[in-house]
Amino acid sequence: MRAFLALLLTASPVLAEAPKVITDIPPVAGLVAAVMGDLGQPVVLLDKGGDEHDLALKPSQMEAMTEADLVVWMGEDLTHELGHALEAVEVPKLTLLEAPETLKMDYPEGGVNPHAWLSPVNAKAWTGLIAARLSELDPENAATYAANAEAALAEIDALDAKLAAQLTGLKPFLTYHDAYGYLAAHYKLPYQGGLAAGEAHAPGAARLAEVEARVKSGEIACIFPEEAHDPALLEAFGTLGPALNPVGSDLDPTPQAWAILMQRLADGLATCR
Ligand SMILES: [Zn+2]
Repeated sequence: MRAFLALLLTASPVLAEAPKVITDIPPVAGLVAAVMGDLGQPVVLLDKGGDEHDLALKPSQMEAMTEADLVVWMGEDLTHELGHALEAVEVPKLTLLEAPETLKMDYPEGGVNPHAWLSPVNAKAWTGLIAARLSELDPENAATYAANAEAALAEIDALDAKLAAQLTGLKPFLTYHDAYGYLAAHYKLPYQGGLAAGEAHAPGAARLAEVEARVKSGEIACIFPEEAHDPALLEAFGTLGPALNPVGSDLDPTPQAWAILMQRLADGLATCR
């Protein structure tokens, strides 16, 4: 028996487990998953169909936090409640909106626009940051993280070029909420902002009247509702485009999540011609 055990011990060296990573939203989870590859899969906190701004921790998720090796999340500008919850947990964090490498935009009304994952420039910067943090936590697998990150960067570049070609020549469009500033800036799209400006949850009468006038004058050619919001207010303005989901709240945390999200948004917006 002793010999058998000794054989077992020498034959199966204890493999260091890959870090347990918790993320806030599917596109961030996708970038982490691409860097981890076969070594592991991150957890994503946002519920399927959830609103990215209303993310709060369930008790089970709070408990999982205590076992996490790293939390990769956007930051308090996106999810204020999650920020509060994370303050109470001693876990290493990579707060993407606070990283100096992150390209950040403000809303015209002021305040940080937190939808920074819709920028391929940020997706690439964060891929590098994620690989660096994972390598620090798990130096044995550093070469794998580096190789996976390099492959991920090449895929982001290829998709970026494809989307740039797909998104040329769009007409001016409006969305339900003001989430697409990064995408519009990157691909130079004629984005007219959201019906609900900034993070306001419902537009006021003045905003509705302004949008109605701009639709009538042709300044706004297309209106896109969103899966997480009732389209009733928008329907008053005319025919709507396909419903967008800027956070991909239905997506699993696979290495493809970020790319699937970007492609779906491009497919939706490309109908505005
Ligand atoms: Zn949003």
